[in-house]
Amino acid sequence: MSTNPARRNAIEAIASQPRLQGSFDFRNEKIDLIYGQNVFSLDKMEKRLPKDVFKSLKANIESGTKLDAASADVVAAAIKDWALERGATHYAHVFYPLTGFTAEKHDTFFEPNGNGTLAQFSGKALIQAEPDASSFPNGGLRSTFEARGYTAWDVTSPAYIFDTENGSTLCIPTAFVSWKGEALDKKTPLLRSMAAVNKAATRVLALFGKKHGFISASCGPEQEYFLIDSRLFHLRPDLYTCGRSLFGAKPAKGQEFEDQYFGTIPDRVLACMMETERECFKLGIPIKTRHNEVAPAQYEVAPIYESANVAHDHQMLTMTLLRRVATKHGFVCLLAEKPFAGVNGSGKHVNWSIGGAGVGNLLEPGHNPHENAQFLTFCSAVVRAVDLHQGLLRASVASAGNDHRLGANEAPPAIISIYLGDMLNEVIEQVKKSGSASTSRKGGHMTLGVDTLPVLPKDAGDRNRTSPFAFTGNKFEFRAVGSAFSVAGPLTVLNTIMADSLDKLADELAEEIKAKKGDFNAALQVVLKNILSKHGRVIFNGNGYSEEWHKEAAKRGLKNLRTTPDALPEIVSKSSIEVFERQGVLSKAELESREEIYTHSYVLAINTESKLVSEIAKTLLLPAALKYAADLTPVEKTKSGGKLRKEVIALADELAAAIDALDAARDVSKSDTHAQAKHSCDKVLPAMLKVRTAADALEEIVADEYWPLPSYQELLFLR
Ligand code: ADP
Ligand code: MG
Repeated sequence: MSTNPARRNAIEAIASQPRLQGSFDFRNEKIDLIYGQNVFSLDKMEKRLPKDVFKSLKANIESGTKLDAASADVVAAAIKDWALERGATHYAHVFYPLTGFTAEKHDTFFEPNGNGTLAQFSGKALIQAEPDASSFPNGGLRSTFEARGYTAWDVTSPAYIFDTENGSTLCIPTAFVSWKGEALDKKTPLLRSMAAVNKAATRVLALFGKKHGFISASCGPEQEYFLIDSRLFHLRPDLYTCGRSLFGAKPAKGQEFEDQYFGTIPDRVLACMMETERECFKLGIPIKTRHNEVAPAQYEVAPIYESANVAHDHQMLTMTLLRRVATKHGFVCLLAEKPFAGVNGSGKHVNWSIGGAGVGNLLEPGHNPHENAQFLTFCSAVVRAVDLHQGLLRASVASAGNDHRLGANEAPPAIISIYLGDMLNEVIEQVKKSGSASTSRKGGHMTLGVDTLPVLPKDAGDRNRTSPFAFTGNKFEFRAVGSAFSVAGPLTVLNTIMADSLDKLADELAEEIKAKKGDFNAALQVVLKNILSKHGRVIFNGNGYSEEWHKEAAKRGLKNLRTTPDALPEIVSKSSIEVFERQGVLSKAELESREEIYTHSYVLAINTESKLVSEIAKTLLLPAALKYAADLTPVEKTKSGGKLRKEVIALADELAAAIDALDAARDVSKSDTHAQAKHSCDKVLPAMLKVRTAADALEEIVADEYWPLPSYQELLFLR
């Protein structure tokens, strides 16, 4: 046990903490009553709204269009009554600025009216607000004289009540735009991309002669996170400032026993998970799965998939709730991508598909050959989209935190490729060769769309955890996304490039049908063959971690954008701007502002971390080492004392020199943000690592009572 007093106190408190008394018991609760109780859902709207208003609101929700002013007043009154009944005192437009966090400004319903107060909430307050948004990042989109930003209710995402210990707030999910209508947030482009997917998929399905409802992208995000005891956390300035440890010697025990993954969930953690789930249920977030993850103290939560836009809002709320509830249980929830060196980091697997009423899931192999032809069509569109826009996809998951994860042997590499699984791959290979496919593994050649096309495997079979973008039976799983990310960015990119690929496919198919004089199957065969021959290089079913793949990928001409400064410029590449503008999702100016903001936050992140490295090293670690060396002076003449003292002094000198070098590297200021980002990546990060290496070596030999930072052992294993 640690003999450093602060650490000892924390550890004693953890060891002797009383068993947690649950504030509720799922056994005594009816989950179907809790579920969605804080959401102003369609059924509540139907009960509380006049028939005609409900009908028009429902139509708005289905088509993603705006509510008219007259209906807005009626809806606002109904929402207000419901919210007041549930005890809400305030309302807030919730929006999603480019910081990647959630933003909100609360106003009370209650206004003085001469003799007391009266609850007010107009239609205008429901559908639009004008937060003083000048301090949100806008990347040059707003000039200071026109700093206004507007938030507008996204009717496709229901209003909800957020409960806290001292009160409740009605929350209205909104899009955030400048006075000229430029997107200043993550939701606006996501909504635009949803519309683009619907439009393009509809064109393709029309050629298949399909009738259907709105085609929507779906998303089911799996969230990995760490739970660390809050008493130890608060002794680590790196954790509470940056969310990741900047120091820490490797513990004797890490994850090598593989005893954590899917292991029994510790009681204290399970209680915390259950309470988080209950809060999620109240908000209609369909949490399904909980389990231990690979690293010690690492866990995962996953919901049932929903429409991508709603899934996004729910995912942001889930992160908020994970953090909030953890605090109640004496934990801190770490969402950073790589909180601890030497054990796995955390990702967010973004499961994604498209589909709609009448056609079901378009990425699900069908029951008959005709459906399979349609499935292969949509699948081929994905292959082309990912191949053409690898760089953009990589950029959508780029951040200082995620750079520590991508490319290490635990997470998919920075090279974007698609895993299809053996069975599906075989079918694709055959389409590529001849435009026709035979029954998988054996059998003769057949033509697409006729009754002989094989029944495709419903189960993807083997999972390949090393692929950044894997087909998993009826959806693709984008695994390169970092745990702290908003899913909006990756989803917007996926939807946009898919819409564009489908649009192109519709053009090609229509033309080919004409050329083939109406022979649909023959035309489809040609189109798919062309797509797959041209873009099949992005398919890779082997081990993505291997050295050979890196060589092979280079041979195939796939991009390997290792770091954030390498990846971010892809956002403003010619092909990115073209695809976003063609699909009406983001303009060149909007893309440029985003690229600028993300590059700037990268520089800020590394700058903060590097300052903290210097500060902790100078004020906590070097003094600890020197004090220890001084205390060893009386035993200097002994063999062991002399040797130890020498070692400590040598490492302390190394540490001091490394700190100086880091300070010098950080002081270099470059002419523009991009050069600064490169400098941060190439010079500051390695300098930080040198400081850490010396400090970690000291941690291993300095007597425990001198060491101020809780060890990895303590952080990862005490709960
Ligand atoms: P695994 O860990 O094997 O990937 P999980 O059950 O943990 O499986 O997570 C799978 C995720 O994929 C869930 O969030 C699930 O809702 C989601 N998912 C399933 N089908 C679809 C779909 N059609 N579109 C989007 N997400 C989906
Ligand atoms: Mg998964």
